[in-house]
Amino acid sequence: MGEPSYRAQQLWTALHRNHVSSVEQISTLSRNLRARLDQDFEFQPLKVLKELHSSDGSTRKALFNLPDGQAVESVFMLYHKRRTVCISTQVGCAMGCAFCATGQMGFQRNLSRGEIAAQVYHYARELEQSGDKLSNVVLMGMGEPFHNYEESIQAMELLNHADGLNLGARRITVSTVGLVPQILRYTEEKHPYRLAISLHAATEELRTRLLPINRKYPLKDLLTACRNYVDQSGRRITFEWALIENVNDTEEQLERLIAFAGDMLCHINLIPLNSSPQSSYHRTSSSRVDQFEKALTENNISCSVRLRRGLDIHAGCGQLAVENKYS
Ligand code: SAH
Ligand code: SF4
Repeated sequence: MGEPSYRAQQLWTALHRNHVSSVEQISTLSRNLRARLDQDFEFQPLKVLKELHSSDGSTRKALFNLPDGQAVESVFMLYHKRRTVCISTQVGCAMGCAFCATGQMGFQRNLSRGEIAAQVYHYARELEQSGDKLSNVVLMGMGEPFHNYEESIQAMELLNHADGLNLGARRITVSTVGLVPQILRYTEEKHPYRLAISLHAATEELRTRLLPINRKYPLKDLLTACRNYVDQSGRRITFEWALIENVNDTEEQLERLIAFAGDMLCHINLIPLNSSPQSSYHRTSSSRVDQFEKALTENNISCSVRLRRGLDIHAGCGQLAVENKYS
């Protein structure tokens, strides 16, 4: 635009550090330049259509309108000192997992890195106003981050950037359904963000039933890619396991899970299944969840049970889909 290069730095700081929501707020730029920028660029790609608060006050879910009229959801969670945002990377999802509401709505489009990061900035801005700040970001909302690899990675880079939000890489987690080529690429590129894998089953047959992508990238290849990640990076990998009654909470599944997790640097995150209207699967009883956790622990496998949050506003894992809960 023929402007001196330091203007780029001013603009960067305004957007990624100060999280301005309109070009008008960038007082370091001349009125004339602001007008030109306003004409050509979108400074706030997300408009809040609706915000829901869980009854216990711990969780909020926002519905954002995107410039093309599509919409996505993000979830903000308060837990002791943690302030975590769960963000979306796509409108819908193409992976069609049997128990996930997002999967059932199909794929609409990828989000840009700006649209992904802006979900975080929305909450960062608010927290900063009250003297607080975000502590964690998880790419576990709508969509499959590794199906939108480039934009998801670039969004994490923005969040981690020293001149931006400067959120530590270990505070950012990306979760994938298990796209093997992208896991290999992620390993090769040596990204520092935490990696979580939606495992959910320890046999090919069951995993294919729950996660159709297993047909393309079988469990055996997925585990090889995960081992490779751990070996190359020296980092722990997280396996997510949504506990479904009489489906993947059986002794057989547990034994097989122990067999391969036992010799890997990993952490298992057990997620009692959240209901979705289209699915006939049921959540494992809390006593069985405890047994599962105990068996893993006894086998020296690090594990935890994910807190169930925001269920009254359909903000739990696998419940995000643009739906009529708002109306
Ligand atoms: N697409 C990515 C990230 C989004 S989902 C992925 O699948 O990994 C975040 C986590 O919630 C995943 O582990 C996913 O399998 C899990 N999940 C999906 N539906 C769920 C449900 N109904 N109950 C509990 N967890 C669910
Ligand atoms: Fe997509 Fe993840 Fe839901 Fe599967 S669990 S449909 S990959 S969002």
